[in-house]
Amino acid sequence: MHRLLTLRHLVHTLIFVGIGLAAVLNVPFAGCAYLKIGMLRLVCPVGFLETALASHSVPWQLVPGFLCICVLIFVVGRAYCSWACPASFLGTQLRKLSVRVLPKSFTKPFSKKFGKAQRAVSARLGTGKGDAFALLAGLALGIVLFGYPAWSIICPVGLVSRGLIEGIVHHVLRWDLVLLLLPILISLCFRSGWKCACPVGTVRGLLATPNRTLTPLPDASACRNCSKCARVCPAGLDPIRETDPQLCTKCLQCVDACPFDALSLALLRSKKRNAPHV
Ligand code: SF4
Ligand code: SF4
Repeated sequence: MHRLLTLRHLVHTLIFVGIGLAAVLNVPFAGCAYLKIGMLRLVCPVGFLETALASHSVPWQLVPGFLCICVLIFVVGRAYCSWACPASFLGTQLRKLSVRVLPKSFTKPFSKKFGKAQRAVSARLGTGKGDAFALLAGLALGIVLFGYPAWSIICPVGLVSRGLIEGIVHHVLRWDLVLLLLPILISLCFRSGWKCACPVGTVRGLLATPNRTLTPLPDASACRNCSKCARVCPAGLDPIRETDPQLCTKCLQCVDACPFDALSLALLRSKKRNAPHV
């Protein structure tokens, strides 16, 4: 039942360890932000856009690598966000640790209260993915005007990657890890949490718009409408009705969580969805 979850944890752990090893061995692999393979420089799409906007020019040497990443996103959508992102890995591990170390009498009411506050704030503000794109566009304008890499300030992937590399190589804790509070605070405004404040996820979401692969497929005859899949979805989707490629991170938690095996993994989504009647 939870084979997908185990596999995802394994891939995550390998990537996290890989970032640390690359830092020690001096391999140019900065938290999935940059990897040089021969002549090809694979670069994070946000890093590419930020460089272009800040320098008011096209960094041509990065264009082939950027296009390769775009093709990858077209093929597997936002899978990076749940299968490889070091910030997402760190968040999961911290959550697990807090459940183990802190008393349940504290963690349960806290997560309940945070979830409740998040739903109340996002419902009041009526924020959606359009607002996440607007936030990103505002920062992009700031980068053009001031030539300062503003996306990096709130980018959890960059903050965690830099913190990890600095910690392993120089044994120091970077002060800018405190900036992780920014996306956490912004996350209060969105039903899909801190991922909405992540420029990497948002840009990948935009590029993933035409993606149609690896989606949860509901089986109308088996589904009992228990909504468990919707409750576990970290992107705030209801997988039996919508699989928005801009938001779905292919984590497949919904497939794992369904108690009636009514969700399966479709390699290619067809236009007609076999959703159950309510
Ligand atoms: S797909 Fe599974 S988890 Fe989702 S509503 Fe149907 S029975 Fe419940
Ligand atoms: S719809 Fe399923 S696969 Fe997509 S983000 Fe939600 S839980 Fe993950």
